[in-house]
Amino acid sequence: MNIHEYQAKELLAKFGVAVPAGHAALSVDEAVAAAGKLPGPLYVVKAQIHAGGRGKGKFKELPAEAKGGVRLTKSLDEVKAAATEMLGNTLVTIQTGEHGKQVNRLYVTDGADIDKEYYLSMLVDRATGRIAMVVSTEGGMDIEAVAHDTPEKIQTIVIDPAEGFQPHHGRAAAFALKLTGDLNKQCVKLVEQLYNAFVATDMSMLEVNPLVETKDGQLLVLDAKVSFDSNALFRHKDIVELRDVTEEDPAEVEASKYDLAYIKLDGDIGCMVNGAGLAMATMDIIKLNGMFPANFLDVGGGATTEKVTAAFKIILADPAVKGILVNIFGGIMRCDIIAEGIVTAAKEVNIQVPLVVRLEGTNVEKGKEILANSGLAIVPADDLGDAARKIVAEVKQAA
Ligand code: GDP
Ligand code: MG
Repeated sequence: MNIHEYQAKELLAKFGVAVPAGHAALSVDEAVAAAGKLPGPLYVVKAQIHAGGRGKGKFKELPAEAKGGVRLTKSLDEVKAAATEMLGNTLVTIQTGEHGKQVNRLYVTDGADIDKEYYLSMLVDRATGRIAMVVSTEGGMDIEAVAHDTPEKIQTIVIDPAEGFQPHHGRAAAFALKLTGDLNKQCVKLVEQLYNAFVATDMSMLEVNPLVETKDGQLLVLDAKVSFDSNALFRHKDIVELRDVTEEDPAEVEASKYDLAYIKLDGDIGCMVNGAGLAMATMDIIKLNGMFPANFLDVGGGATTEKVTAAFKIILADPAVKGILVNIFGGIMRCDIIAEGIVTAAKEVNIQVPLVVRLEGTNVEKGKEILANSGLAIVPADDLGDAARKIVAEVKQAA
């Protein structure tokens, strides 16, 4: 789960992290009022969307020369103008995709007088089972580009959770960022605070880009992007409340209600599969046969009729879907139960596109019989390769 920048900064501030003062705003009036509470003379008006690269982004509705989603303003009138231009409009950044995201919230912050910009992030490194802290002197820009062009400017410091944060981790970060004297001390403290926040709230990623050094010698978290481990959300009710579903794909939100792991993709073939590994293999084999999956969908082990129906509805709500491939391995779950679920769901949602079903496992013969006697135009398949060839052929024929 992701949250907005202002929510991330408010959360980090609870752990003592130094962030610029600021207030969220949902309207132009609120934005002006928010700026009125800040000392000035510089006010930063920032679009709140779940995507980075806002500063260099472009608004679809504004002329090409208009500024992006991070505006430095010097008066309440300028705040008003910036808020008016941004709210309700669609911001396209390198992270939003070409559709962009509508800006419904703003964050008005006290402008910092920046001397230098750095990069600092923390993430769970699955390979080592530790928390990796990534730092670079090249902050404020696209870190992927830095990693590609000047990888030597990126350093990784690993923190073993069994050992926890130690001052030497902070000093290693400060050394990598070439911070000396009081800035070095501030860095050690900051790394400890960020690490504490990361662990206490079960973050999976925390990215501060940029971390800045101000002209008066303060280290400030100027931008913050946070993702939480969804599997740990049950123990963070306060964090779940920060969820903004308008930022998420509506189909993915619907799928999460039924505990379905669904991810929208760009292809034409809707997939309904049980088990993440089988779902990956199914997507691969569709590609091998020359088409692309429209989604990843794992209905899980206990796929009930209700779940299968919800899954069908979600797949069919996607106008890009030109055919559906159901690939189920009946283990604990019996194939006849699944077949009944498929038939009930298929009747209920009135499928208009070709449907290929491959069943394997416990009670497979009974399952196939149910599908054959259903009166529905279901194309049965014997194995994974057969299923993929059949759905691709059916879709091409229907086109
Ligand atoms: P992003 O573009 O979505 O990553 O948004 P950021 O919050 O990182 O802002 C982008 C850039 O705007 C930063 O790298 C800074 O160069 C600039 N910026 C943001 N806030 C301030 C501020 O308070 N003062 C100054 N001078 N520049 C800022
Ligand atoms: Mg940034």
